[in-house]
Amino acid sequence: MTEKSVFEKILSKEISSEIIYETDRVFAINDINPVAPVHILIIPKKKIPTINDIQVDDMNLISDIVFAAKKLAFDHKIHDSGYRLIWNTNNHGQQTVYHIHLHLIGGRQLSWSF
Ligand code: AMP
Repeated sequence: MTEKSVFEKILSKEISSEIIYETDRVFAINDINPVAPVHILIIPKKKIPTINDIQVDDMNLISDIVFAAKKLAFDHKIHDSGYRLIWNTNNHGQQTVYHIHLHLIGGRQLSWSF
């Protein structure tokens, strides 16, 4: 069995973190190192290492994650001002946790520079 991801440990309460949204398939937490006033991670309970690993059978799960992001954007009242959804992938994408998660980032003006 592969080692548990930090997100699996949060789900199993081995690491403490407030779960701010949860369904049978996904959950969300505030990022521990936020880059904006709203920085939420929406995470599938099923561990999928990277977006490269998603399969056709995962499409409903991916939809659940995006839908949760939309709901959380409304809950945090950033739906009109705007926000960014990001899936970092592998080294060049600066992915650090190999359990897919969608970043919901907003609450301030964002810039676009690389
Ligand atoms: P990424 O770099 O796209 O893989 O994103 C991983 C994110 O997980 C980073 O933004 C981290 O700040 C965040 N993170 C890591 N550990 C925790 C934790 N225990 N609780 C909340 N967020 C975390």
